[in-house]
Amino acid sequence: MIRIQKLATPPEKLVQDGKTKRRSHCSSYSRNPKIYQLGERTFSFDCNIYAHKSVKQALIQAQHGKCCFCERLTGIDGDVEHFRPKQAYKQATGEPLYRPGYYWLAYEWDNLYLACPGCNQRHKQNLFPLQNPSERAISHRHDVGAEQPLFIDPGKENPEEFIRFRGEVAYAVESNVRGQATLNTLKLNQRSLPEARLQRLQMLKRLWQIVQLAQSDEKAGDAGCQELAGEARHSLERAIQDAAEFSAASRWAVQTKFQFVIG
Ligand SMILES: [Zn+2]
Repeated sequence: MIRIQKLATPPEKLVQDGKTKRRSHCSSYSRNPKIYQLGERTFSFDCNIYAHKSVKQALIQAQHGKCCFCERLTGIDGDVEHFRPKQAYKQATGEPLYRPGYYWLAYEWDNLYLACPGCNQRHKQNLFPLQNPSERAISHRHDVGAEQPLFIDPGKENPEEFIRFRGEVAYAVESNVRGQATLNTLKLNQRSLPEARLQRLQMLKRLWQIVQLAQSDEKAGDAGCQELAGEARHSLERAIQDAAEFSAASRWAVQTKFQFVIG
């Protein structure tokens, strides 16, 4: 995970149509909260607004076409994901599903990200654990600012302060509970992610080795080797930029001189 900088101005579709929908959902809830809490009535959210092509395109641009959690390149195949679930939520896997969810944030720019189907549909789903569940905002009258989410919000904080990498393996810095919860819930050290990261890191390690070799006395006068090293250095620089797939893991591999990258 890396820090995501979205444009400060939300896409027009959210401002216009999203605001109207939000107002109507909030007044419906206020009229009869019980039927929504019991699940007798549910909100119908319009994906033509929150996942409108202009919204998705703005997210693709802000996130360089990568999943906000696992940093896989997804591009147009990614889902528009709600950080705080819109329809219902769970504090933890196996715990009850509570309704309604954060219906008033369904069209809020801050609450939307691009995520791969694996992270969004298979693992995060309706989960939104809090450190302080009793402070949970359960309607639009409550302040989500009082919540302390366990998931790291890449639009508001820098995930690299919570999660780092030893080779292809992600770990929570000083075993912090939020990094751990994000890693465990989204299974960021499972699925095919470590293998995919390792493959990339091994390729980068080769480039790094070329750069090291070119710096030796023996190769100092070798024009061919120096040229190759220049290209390798350039590729390494690109690989640690935000736009590159698995950039966080790559940054830590470079920082630790690839000592944890096997092969
Ligand atoms: Zn993902």
